[in-house]
Amino acid sequence: MAKVWENEKLVCIKENDIQYIQFKKLLKYPQIKHCYTLKNLNFPPIYKDEKTLKNSYKKICDCLNLDENKIVKPHQTHTSNVEVVNEVINFQDVDGVLTNKEEIVLVTTSADCISLLMFDPVKKVIGSIHSGWRGTLQGIAKEAVLKMIEKYESNPEDIICCICPSIRSCHFEVDEDVKDLFYEKYKNLQQINNIIKKTKIKDGKQKYTIDTVLINICLLKKLGLKEENIIDSNICTVCNKNNFHSYRAEKENSGRNAAIISIKKES
Ligand SMILES: [Zn+2]
Repeated sequence: MAKVWENEKLVCIKENDIQYIQFKKLLKYPQIKHCYTLKNLNFPPIYKDEKTLKNSYKKICDCLNLDENKIVKPHQTHTSNVEVVNEVINFQDVDGVLTNKEEIVLVTTSADCISLLMFDPVKKVIGSIHSGWRGTLQGIAKEAVLKMIEKYESNPEDIICCICPSIRSCHFEVDEDVKDLFYEKYKNLQQINNIIKKTKIKDGKQKYTIDTVLINICLLKKLGLKEENIIDSNICTVCNKNNFHSYRAEKENSGRNAAIISIKKES
């Protein structure tokens, strides 16, 4: 195991032929394990390439000493549905999973979409949430926090939320129709003028950029999460397409990165 690079928030680890990043904030808690994988692992949808998927799970589980039979990976369809997990189970049309059970391995995958890794160290609850632009538009981060409050009596002030690498406003350019959807939903956010920005006119059409990371940060803060508990990786997957799978950069051929979190068994 070798450290490839680190900054104030992240550390990148290389082990055999795989690499992953970890958030220093979460590494302070020895009772959990987590990572966000880099491009040398691929977690494609099961119908596309089951062999690669299984092989990738095996490699990362070996690395982090996780049980591959305890993986819960919902079938993500860009919803705002968040489910509580008490056992290994298959979910359809679910984009966020939460648990307080030891050894369950929560996984969501993405290629440009935002993955959020959540942890409440007081109630000992973890979450892996897929918040693509459609999920962000529907406020799945908010749904996840509300469910932590409802099901586990979490105090938002205790919740840590790590924002994994994703497409950033530098690359998330949209047309008027998508811009309008975000504007209608989030026009009352104080930061709206930083969230939606006019850019260039292309082929006679006005283009806009949307800062979906900032939307998630605003939603989390409004719910009472502390600024120091919201950790943004600050990595754009399109700018860093050599290190991360990116749908915008690679289109249909793109693979998937995995956001993984698990509570250790108490010995
Ligand atoms: Zn970028």
